[in-house]
Amino acid sequence: MRALIVTDVQNDFLPPKGALPVPHGDEIVQPVLDLIRQEEAQDFHRIVLVRDWHTKNHTSFARSHPGAKDYDPVEYRSPKPGDSSTQVGTLWPVHCVQNTWGSQLANILLKETYHRHLKIVDKGFLSDREYYSAFSDIWDFHKTELHEYLQKHHITEVLVVGLALDYCVKATAISAAKLGYKTTIVRSLTRAIHTDEAHMQELEKELKENGVEIVDEVPPHTSEVSA
Ligand SMILES: [Zn+2]
Repeated sequence: MRALIVTDVQNDFLPPKGALPVPHGDEIVQPVLDLIRQEEAQDFHRIVLVRDWHTKNHTSFARSHPGAKDYDPVEYRSPKPGDSSTQVGTLWPVHCVQNTWGSQLANILLKETYHRHLKIVDKGFLSDREYYSAFSDIWDFHKTELHEYLQKHHITEVLVVGLALDYCVKATAISAAKLGYKTTIVRSLTRAIHTDEAHMQELEKELKENGVEIVDEVPPHTSEVSA
């Protein structure tokens, strides 16, 4: 069974008005909606819309770190007591604060949620840790409901689209592959923050090493043979 995962297609990630716009991110909104509307032809058993869903004082905001500026590097400390591990990250402008315009799904997708059974999965709502993957925080401590939901619906294969290719789409796809889903990113339905050639090559290598396929267009659904 195949599911579509639409990552972070929210106002704050969309130019021109979003607080943390992904360049050309607005170009994918209509094509993503078109894909959602092909639900049956594409044989999507489930469709999940992921939201970045932060508290006002989230640790990924530069504003939460005295003296820091937007896009500064940061060294995060593990939120687990007694765990001394650290991770390097990036501090972002305030974005996707819960129940604000910025965290709303793009308007045309939002309308779609009223008449379809689309599952919304939130990530990023614990203040003390960064999240990129829709499955868990960057430490892999706190799990969102996504894996459980996909398992409940017997999903074995996921297509991942949305924003941004080099952050949340990548992390979500790598988590999915690690959890055993056959995972494909549809490049034409994503946009990246960093688009230079070296960055893209590194990204492709990382995806490949983690068992994620990246294709240009939506692949045809292959019917499954039951074991
Ligand atoms: Zn965020």
